Formats: sequence, C-alpha cells, structure tokens
Amino acid sequence: MKKALLIAVLLISLVPVAAWAIYKPVRVLTPELVPDVLCVNQNVCIDNESRSLEALELYENGLHFVADVVGPFKKNPRVVFCTTQACYQSFGFERSSASAVGTFGIVVSPRGWKAHYLRHEMIHHRQAEELGLLSPFFYPEWLIEGMAYSLSEDPRQQLAEPWQKHRHTFDDWFQGTGKNRLWSAASAL
Ligand SMILES: [Zn+2]
Repeated sequence: MKKALLIAVLLISLVPVAAWAIYKPVRVLTPELVPDVLCVNQNVCIDNESRSLEALELYENGLHFVADVVGPFKKNPRVVFCTTQACYQSFGFERSSASAVGTFGIVVSPRGWKAHYLRHEMIHHRQAEELGLLSPFFYPEWLIEGMAYSLSEDPRQQLAEPWQKHRHTFDDWFQGTGKNRLWSAASAL
C-alpha cells in the first residue's frame, strides 16, 4: 500500500478537487459520495445498512484494543466497511483484506471483517499519527509491518514471508523497548 499512500498524498496536496476522480483511494476521504455507501456515524461507513451493528461493534472493539496497545488515537480513524468486492474496488483496492490510507481512512474488504485485520490497519493509522503520514517510506519495514502483525495479535502462527520474519524482528526489538517507550524508540530508528 506504500505506492497508494504516496499517490494519495501527492494528489490531495496538488489537485484536491480532481484527486477524487483521478485516484480512487482518495475517495476514503468522502466515502458518502461513493454509490451505495452510507455513513452511520462520523467514523463508520458501510455499503449495506443491515450489517451496521456488526461494523459498529468491530470498530469500537478495534479502537479500544489498539488504543490500549499503542496509545490513544489523536483522531479516531474513519473506516468504510465493504460487504461487496465491487465496493472495495470502488476505492481502488483489489486483493488485500483491508487497507489504511495514511490517516485519511481505512477500507475493509468483504473478507476483512475480522478483528485482527481491522486492528492491523488501525495500528498503521497510529503509525501515521506518531511517525508521519509517509512513515512507510522512512522507517524499516520490520517496524511498520512487524508492529502491525504482532500488536494486532494476528492469530496466524505462520505468516507468509517476509511478514513472519518482520514480526520476529519487531518482537525482539519490542521486548527490549517496552510499551512506554514504543514511539520514542521507534521514531529514533
Ligand atoms: Zn500492514
């Protein structure tokens, strides 16, 4: 998602109005303009109202879990829950389970409706808050992805490489760092 983020940031700063038409992930800023998507509150949007309660519950649980592990959000993320692949694709995403676009918002695919997937993306949102919008470009991948896989408590024992390796590297580093020094130590890397 690094490329998506970079393009989104560039377009939003250079051509804010045209960005929406040019580059789909930018739509996460105004999901209510995407056909069939409605926002049930300020931060939770969905393309199928009948699953709103499930989405709200996932959101609240994710928020509390992540704030507890990596500190409170400066601004709570906006999350679009897609129940169809067509919805997910209308934000420019295809194969991933969920995607965070900096602090602009998170889009969840139909198969991404799982607590650990949402927590993973919410951790990326916190990284963008603490380490900067373009943190994936300036910090090691083991920190960015290893933290997301580890602290989201992804239940998969074995992840595909390089994620398995990144999770190990992060865990080793985090053991010596501790929760209280997470962001100060991370920003010094
Ligand atoms: Zn990730």
